[in-house]
Amino acid sequence: MRIARVVPDLPTYAVDEGFRYATDRPLPVGSIVRVPLGRRVVRGWVVGAEPGEPSALKPIKALSAEVPIFTEDLLQTLRWAAHHYVAPLAALLRRAGPPNLPGKVDTEVLAPVGRQASSGTPAPISAAAAGDRARAVYCLVGRDELTDTLLDVGPVLRSGGSVMVILATGAEVATHGALLRAAFGARVIEVLPEASHREVTAAWERACETPGHVVVGTHRVVFWPIEGLRLGVLVEEGRRAMRDRQTPTVHAREVIRRRASVERFNIVYLGNVPSTTVLASGVEVQRRSTRGWPPVEIVDRTEDPPGSGLFAHRVRNAIAGAVRRGVRVFVFSHRRGYAPAFRCVRCKTLRRCPSCGSRPEPGEACSRCGAELGSCKVCGGGRFEPLGAGVGRISEVLRRAHGDGAVGAVGSAALIWVGTERDIPSVTGVGLGVVVDADGLILGSAYNAAEEALRIFARLAAGIPFGNGRHLIVQTGQPEHPVIVALRSGDPLPFLEGELQVRQEFGLPPAGEVIVVEVTGGTRDARTVLREAVGTRATLLGPAERSGKLRWLIQGRDLSDVRSSLRPAVQTLRDGGAAVRLDVDPLDL
Ligand SMILES: [Zn+2]
Ligand SMILES: [Zn+2]
Repeated sequence: MRIARVVPDLPTYAVDEGFRYATDRPLPVGSIVRVPLGRRVVRGWVVGAEPGEPSALKPIKALSAEVPIFTEDLLQTLRWAAHHYVAPLAALLRRAGPPNLPGKVDTEVLAPVGRQASSGTPAPISAAAAGDRARAVYCLVGRDELTDTLLDVGPVLRSGGSVMVILATGAEVATHGALLRAAFGARVIEVLPEASHREVTAAWERACETPGHVVVGTHRVVFWPIEGLRLGVLVEEGRRAMRDRQTPTVHAREVIRRRASVERFNIVYLGNVPSTTVLASGVEVQRRSTRGWPPVEIVDRTEDPPGSGLFAHRVRNAIAGAVRRGVRVFVFSHRRGYAPAFRCVRCKTLRRCPSCGSRPEPGEACSRCGAELGSCKVCGGGRFEPLGAGVGRISEVLRRAHGDGAVGAVGSAALIWVGTERDIPSVTGVGLGVVVDADGLILGSAYNAAEEALRIFARLAAGIPFGNGRHLIVQTGQPEHPVIVALRSGDPLPFLEGELQVRQEFGLPPAGEVIVVEVTGGTRDARTVLREAVGTRATLLGPAERSGKLRWLIQGRDLSDVRSSLRPAVQTLRDGGAAVRLDVDPLDL
């Protein structure tokens, strides 16, 4: 008899250390087993073998699957993620496996790879093919160069290595998966979000048995123990969809970075607007195209006569011209789902929180730090208006000009579509794009609003094939703003470097770290529990109260110690009946 340490599949910190069980044969790390726990029998994962005398221990009831779902190396990353995202270990361990119990499959015989790499192949890809390591590289690419670079992975496959390609959405997995399949055939394993549990499990079994595959998926595949993994490719790592929205708020980029250093594989980032986080990590940036997106027309609204309405004269003409020619128009508003900035109706000054300086959402108290917002600090005015018009008002104005039938939602038969950020994936076949008010998005309430704004505008521009009058028009009242300058030049780097300096100055991510803690109900005084957990190691802001939830913000240069003391604190609150939600590295504040 031997001893195996097993972490039960229960979403609580209380079982993080796991328990010792007796086993009659050695079980590899990552084995899925069934073990007795109290009066129940539960699923669990083997995390190690231990010396000692097993006779007093309860035996493992059963081995549930023939294939382990993680290796020692991957377990290191899973443990790191549990610490970083302040999550129970079990909540991470289960992500390495497929939705159903995996079975053993035959090793595949893969067809030879014909395709050669292009001369511009990034160093991490050539190194992966040669079995070497190379520093991570961010390739600034437009649409076409993105495809070319993905196809450069051929030599990695030929040398017997596997490649993981992570994309933001299922639609992009389908598109790029099809392109890769045309070049590499059955070596491509697409993992679509809408696939059944059985299909995803089959994909996992193939990817984890035979090396030489390209696994294409969303951030859900980022913990898969792909056999022979030599290269991770992250496409548009700065997109919001690269991260889980629910606790634990795992970010694909951070997991890949960690895995690459433990498992010793290479990383290539592809996209047109790198995140400030990836730049701060010290990657080398290479240009594979002169522009990240097609040319954009900037319309300076400060030149308009006062009261000229939502659209500048030039823009009204452009829309009318497109409608006449039967060309589809997409009119973008940032108002819906995205917090706009507010300004004083009287003096037009942006509303700011007097305590923390953020640009707050409407309301009496700051949603970030809870401070009283009060009246306008410049003129004393008490009325505020959001910047920019919402979808409703824009549609109304366009209907008056072009008739009811001409204006509709994205995907409708109408020639003019009006929508927001969430509609962008469905915007296809558009000949003219119009951003009604770029400033409303650039000046949004989040600390990273400007960075997000550039990313969204660049995506919009990239979605409109340039030429024959097809392009994106962006209206702004601040044509010299670094975001607009970047948008015009097709080069995001000068803006992002300036942005990094500002974050450095204020200790904001990526220069500092932030954890949001949201507490609902419970018998314990969350204030005291959190204050004790944070101590003097970081700044604790809050609570801000919103619909019965208390929201705190923990901010500091390095929160690793806070993370350790936060685990028992959260457990205390949960034991007191509270619902606690943790948002680590939040996307908005
Ligand atoms: Zn505040
Ligand atoms: Zn004012």
